Amino acid sequence: MTLIALNADVLVTMDAQRREIRDGALVADGPAVQWVGATADLPPQYRRMVDDGTAQVLDMRGRVVMPGLVNTHHHMYQSLTRAVPAAQDAELFSWLTNLYMLWSHLTPEMIHVSTQTAMAELMLSGCTTTSDHLYLYPNGARLDDSIAAAQQMGMRFHAARGSMSLGRSKGGLPPDAVVEEEEAILRDSLRLIQQYHDSARHSMLRVVLAPCSPFSVTRELMRESAVLARAHGVSLHTHLAENDNDVAFSREKFGLTPAQYAESLGWVGPDVWHAHCVKLDAEGIALFARTGTGVAHCPCSNMRLASGIAPVRTMRDAGVPVGLGVDGSASNDGAHMLGEARQALLLQRVGHGPAAMGAREALEIATLGGARVLGRDDIGALAPGMSADFVAFDMSGVGYAGAGHDPVAALVFCTPTDVSTSVINGRVVVRDGHLLTADLPRVLTRHRELARTLFERAAGH
Ligand SMILES: [Zn+2]
Repeated sequence: MTLIALNADVLVTMDAQRREIRDGALVADGPAVQWVGATADLPPQYRRMVDDGTAQVLDMRGRVVMPGLVNTHHHMYQSLTRAVPAAQDAELFSWLTNLYMLWSHLTPEMIHVSTQTAMAELMLSGCTTTSDHLYLYPNGARLDDSIAAAQQMGMRFHAARGSMSLGRSKGGLPPDAVVEEEEAILRDSLRLIQQYHDSARHSMLRVVLAPCSPFSVTRELMRESAVLARAHGVSLHTHLAENDNDVAFSREKFGLTPAQYAESLGWVGPDVWHAHCVKLDAEGIALFARTGTGVAHCPCSNMRLASGIAPVRTMRDAGVPVGLGVDGSASNDGAHMLGEARQALLLQRVGHGPAAMGAREALEIATLGGARVLGRDDIGALAPGMSADFVAFDMSGVGYAGAGHDPVAALVFCTPTDVSTSVINGRVVVRDGHLLTADLPRVLTRHRELARTLFERAAGH
């Protein structure tokens, strides 16, 4: 059925001219946008469909409509381990060490329900496309558990097959109990690509290969994952240059900076994106710009773990593709995509002054930036032929009172709110602030039970 959104106070297109259309309207047919413009200019054939009730009509009065936000880095299973006391006040390496043993008790159901929960949170906060980096597979868990959740939730999904192979006994950081054999990792990666990866335009599911980090996998696995990914046209993702310890590890073990290490393994190019890059040096920024290598900027997580301020201003000026990531729920306990855009702006300003980032640039990074990082030219903007992924924010609440001069900037400067409407691939998934694709109270009840079970098992009850 044709979907027609009308009367938006402002329709933010993120198109080539970055048009913001007053009293905007949008027509979608199936997965794609057909027409975008002012409501008064709606072509007669669509006007007739509104009048005779043959289209699904969304009245967007009082709302700002914009392209769905794109989340480029997450670990959704961590929604079971938010605000864990032992990991509240640590930097990356000790934070991880405190959590690995807890995560070793995850089950397939825990992966499934935590993914549903994390996706619900993202969808309600304006995100329509997300990646998830799952790198632990204890007790029979599989990436299929999160893929099934994404399909139920109706979210556009880039499922990253993470992995860890370098246990403590071999000089890595994670305990041996949570790492896998490299041969099994590569075999499962190939199975997932063959079973699920859809490279078509408007694809709802792509597979990504994602060995976890320099301190948890070998160079061989990094190299072989890149070869496998390129043979099948899938993207590559990992963590890089997250903090000073991460850089020190790289220099000590490999005699290379993180960027040199990535380049030596073939991990640069438009099909690669790295999370964090807080400590990417000038040489690394030039390399990333030259090769089109992407960065998932995760400002809340970087502040939570005191990792530092990623040089996003410098990266953007150099031409590095930058998207936003909420990161896992154990290092950013609130996964709100609009909130993340706000923190990106605030953090750049703390580091580099008031001109370092504006509200519209923050929204651009959260939409077009993320799309480019994920290797997509069909999301991140609203124009004919683009995927019909859009969200609406109701500007009538107390949080936006007095910000009517510039409602678009208000989305970033004011306290982040949830969406009133979300449409993914032409399907309404949130209406009047309610998620339509899951029984959320029921999911949350089960999520609470499973979080408790996880802690009890880890404590040996
Ligand atoms: Zn991460």
